[in-house]
Amino acid sequence: MECPKCNGKTEGWKCAICGSESDNHDENHKHAGSDRYCTMKCKACSQADVHCGCQPPVVVSSATQA
Ligand SMILES: [Zn+2]
Ligand SMILES: [Zn+2]
Ligand SMILES: [Zn+2]
Repeated sequence: MECPKCNGKTEGWKCAICGSESDNHDENHKHAGSDRYCTMKCKACSQADVHCGCQPPVVVSSATQA
């Protein structure tokens, strides 16, 4: 699994609302009035992916313009 924010690795799942963590996606974990609930947990910052503030890895372009 990849973090959609930084394309880094994820480690388990984490609720973006209450912060509860789980090893498996709990699709029944929901909060009224929000569509943010159990999301992937970014391994780098241990935040729910929607709260991830990591910078995506810099893609080194080998394209040269002569
Ligand atoms: Zn991330
Ligand atoms: Zn929650
Ligand atoms: Zn992150």
